[in-house]
Order: sequence, then structure tokens, then C-alpha cells
Amino acid sequence: MTENRPFEVARETLKQLSVKKLVPTPVNYQAIYSEIAGIPIVPDFPDGPLRQIAQALPLKNPGQQKQKGLLDSAIGQRNWQGVESALLAYAGFIMPSATSANSQDAALTCAPALSTASPGLTAEFMGQIARLVENALPALGSDDARFAAQVGELLTALRDPATELTAAKTLLANFSHRLSFAAEDQAEVKKTLLKLLQLIVQNMGELSLDDGWLKGQTEALRTAAAPPLTLRRLDDVERLLKDVLFKQKDAKGRAMEAQDELRKMLAAFIERLSLMTASSSGYHGKMEESVRLMAQARSLEDIAPVLKEVIGATRLMTAEALAVRDELQTMREKTQATDAELSKLHQELDRVSAQALHDHLTGALNRKGLDEALSRELSSLRRKGSPLCVSLLDIDNFKKLNDSKGHATGDVALAHLAQVARECMRPQDTLARYGGEEFVLLLPDTPLEQGIAAMTRLQRELSKRFFLAGTEKVLITFSAGVAQVAPDEAGDAAIKRADQAMYLAKRAGKNRVLGG
Ligand code: GH3
Ligand code: MG
Ligand code: MG
Repeated sequence: MTENRPFEVARETLKQLSVKKLVPTPVNYQAIYSEIAGIPIVPDFPDGPLRQIAQALPLKNPGQQKQKGLLDSAIGQRNWQGVESALLAYAGFIMPSATSANSQDAALTCAPALSTASPGLTAEFMGQIARLVENALPALGSDDARFAAQVGELLTALRDPATELTAAKTLLANFSHRLSFAAEDQAEVKKTLLKLLQLIVQNMGELSLDDGWLKGQTEALRTAAAPPLTLRRLDDVERLLKDVLFKQKDAKGRAMEAQDELRKMLAAFIERLSLMTASSSGYHGKMEESVRLMAQARSLEDIAPVLKEVIGATRLMTAEALAVRDELQTMREKTQATDAELSKLHQELDRVSAQALHDHLTGALNRKGLDEALSRELSSLRRKGSPLCVSLLDIDNFKKLNDSKGHATGDVALAHLAQVARECMRPQDTLARYGGEEFVLLLPDTPLEQGIAAMTRLQRELSKRFFLAGTEKVLITFSAGVAQVAPDEAGDAAIKRADQAMYLAKRAGKNRVLGG
């Protein structure tokens, strides 16, 4: 038997291959070997049975037809891998009987993948659409009751496995139609609100012309309220607005109080003045009358009553004068008290201004504002794990600028730098005045390399944009250090690293940005 002499069979096989001049492939070797050993020959590729299977496959939709074509060609090429993938893909186009009957429905031909998907896939897909619809809702507001009802109906249908695809499609089409209007409405509402906000800010600036601090703040507010608005920017607007309202309320209260006090004092003074005039003119009348009576007097008896009259009138006049003096004294004391009150209010106001979050010269955040912004960014960093960069920049040779062009020009330079930074950084970046001519920038969602690139961009932009000192064009440069905040690092430690890098940038020749 073959099993007993495999060696001979193998040798004979090789011989036959050579005699028959066959190429020594494994297939040919196996065929000859089986023939010599008397083993039934198993075809290496079962074309016949596979073709039978392919022939028997139902073709109920274009997907199945296509895969059948691919299967036929894979069998023709004796390609097992092709057969496998065509059969697997064919399985994906098998549908539940209820929907397969509708597979040629016009409504579904636009989405053949969905219409021919398996029930599990369809339910999952519908669920995803339902989630998508739900996620879009908060952006559309909840004012329109009819829209809300329509959405409710759509969500129920999408989550009900018994819903016909055509019915879901109609509901979705209605929703999409309505959604386009709602989205347009929302965009319009946003635009109008922004305009309104800008108008309010503008009016506020005009109302407070006499207060430099308020003017600076409202200017910063106007810049912050310029589109494009982001949540972070709105947050900034809100904080600025609070600062301004707080200060304005205080300033108004103080002015009203002083005005009221002055009005009262003026009224009392006028009243006293008119009383004095009346009593002194009465006194003068009485004196003239007495002089006349004295001239006519013929005896002491005639003079006595006149004298009595004169003494009485003089006493009255003296008492009146004393009362006036007392009253004026009280008024003076009151004025002094009001003065003291006003200066106390002034101090209080300065304290309030110090509590504000923005620097009045540049409109950037002050140290307190920076502390708040930094702790917000740090908690977001810890929550999301996204990278955060801090940068510290220091204007180059600022003292020289102050000395040569004056302190006022130095102030303009600071405001100019803040303005350029606001314009060329992203809306989500934060700018704060750290000290005299030093600024800190917070760059969220930014790894170190990008942080350095952003600061270099700002540097280039600044070296392109001069400002005017009178008619003279002035250019300023800065040196900056950038540090990416480590996950457990405190904000001030990261700023310190940025500061060290800034110092190295100064040492390396200024007007450059280094990573820390
Ligand atoms: P470096 O390039 O090394 O940074 O030199 P610098 O001259 O810029 O630095 P220095 O620290 O010597 O000088 C900073 C100057 O900034 C000194 C100070 O008078 C001035 N300064 C600080 N705050 C203000 C401000 O609000 N307005 C103006 N105009 N100057 C200010
Ligand atoms: Mg400095
Ligand atoms: Mg400097």
C-alpha cells in the first residue's frame, strides 16, 4: 500500500514529472503522487461547488448583485481571498425581509448603504441620528413649541425599531427643513445681540467722558466685543462689563451725594441771605424812623420810647446776626465734613478700581485678572489634559524710549503692544500686564513648539507696525520666553520658567523668543 512505500512513490513521482515534462509545481507533484499511490485526486480549487453556491445566491439588491459579480470573478481566478471578501460583503447586504421588500423604494435609493444595511446596523445608525438631533437642540433654543413637538416625534420614531425607513426619512426631511430656518434665526439673533452690546458699550464710553479709567475700560470692552465672539471672549466681556458697571455705579453715587449736599447748602445759604436782607432793611427803616422821631422830640418823655425802640431793634439785629453767624459756622462744619466724606469716598473708589481685573492703560488683564484667568486655564488643563503655554514678554530698551521720547510716548507704546497682541493672537488667548513693560500671555491648547511659533508671529507683526509719537514713527521690539505648563506645575512656577527663558533671550541679544 501507498502508506508502506512513500519513499518509492515519491521517487516515482519525480521520475514521472520528468518523463511527462511537467513543471514541478506542488499542484502537479500532488496530482502525480496521488495517481501513483492510488489516492483519489482532490482538485486544489473547488471551482464547481463554488460556482453552484454562487449560482444559488439570491440577488435582491444592487449590493448583492455587485458582490455576486465579484464572487464569480474570484472563482474564475481561483482566488480564495477574493471569494472570502465577496462572500463577507454579500452578507452585509442581507436585509430583514420587511425592508428588503422595499429595497427599490425611491426614497431609499439615495442611500443604498442604509437601505441595505443589517437590522443591527440600521438601529445603531438611527440611534446615532437621534443623538445628533438631540445634540443640535441646545444651539437652537427652546422658544418654538411646534419645533419642539416635531423634534420629539422624530426622536421617538428614530428610537423605535418598528419605524419604517421611509417614515423616518420623511420626518428627518421635515426636521432638516425646519432646522435650516432655526439655524438662520439663531445666527441673526446672535448678530443682533452683538450689535446691541456694541451700542451699549459705545454709549457707556460717551457717558463717562470725564473719567479716564472708565474710558480706557470701555475701549477695552469695545475691542473685546468685536467679532468673532467665542465663549472665552464673552467671558472676558462679562468681566470687563462688571468692572465698569461697578465703578460707574460708585462714581454716580458719589457724584449724586456731593451734588445733593451742595444743593442743600446753597438753599440754606440763600434763605439765610434773604432773611438777613429782610431783617437788616427792617432795622434800617426802624433806625431812620427813630432819627426822625428824635429830631421832632421836645422832651425826654418824647425820646424815651424812641430809645426803647432803638434798643429793641438793635438787640433783635444782634440776635439775628448771632444766629446767622452760628448758622454759617454750622454750615462751614458741614462742608468740612462733606469734604472729608468725599475724600474717603475717593479712597474707597481707588480701592474699588484696584479690585478691577483690567489694567486701565492697556485694557489687558491686571495681575488679579491674570490670577483668575490662569487658575481657569489650569483647571481646564487638568480636566482636558490639553497643553497650555505661558509666555512672558518684556519690551526691549523701554527705559531708553521713555528717556528719549517721554513717558507719555512710553504709555502709547504699551497700549500699542497690547493692541497688536489682541489683534494677532487667537481669541482664546489671554493677555495680561504683568508689570511695567512686561506682559504675560496664556495660550491654551498649545504645545511648546506652537507657543514659540505664535510668539514669534507676534514679534514679526510688531516689527511691521509702528506707532506715532507726534509725527515720528516708532517701532518697538520685545524679548519673550515660552514655557509649556507641566501637568502638576503651579501657574507661577511656569511663569517663572518663561521669565528665565525671557532673560536668556535678552542675554542672547534681545528681539527674540526662546522656549523654557
Ligand atoms: P531691557 O531691554 O533689558 O528690558 O531694558 P529696559 O529699558 O526695557 O528695562 P528696564 O527694566 O531697565 O526699564 C523698564 C522701564 O519701564 C523703567 C520704567 O520707568 C518703565 N515703565 C514701567 N512702567 C511704565 C509705564 O506704565 N509707563 C511708562 N511710560 N514707562 C513705564
Ligand atoms: Mg522689565
Ligand atoms: Mg524691558
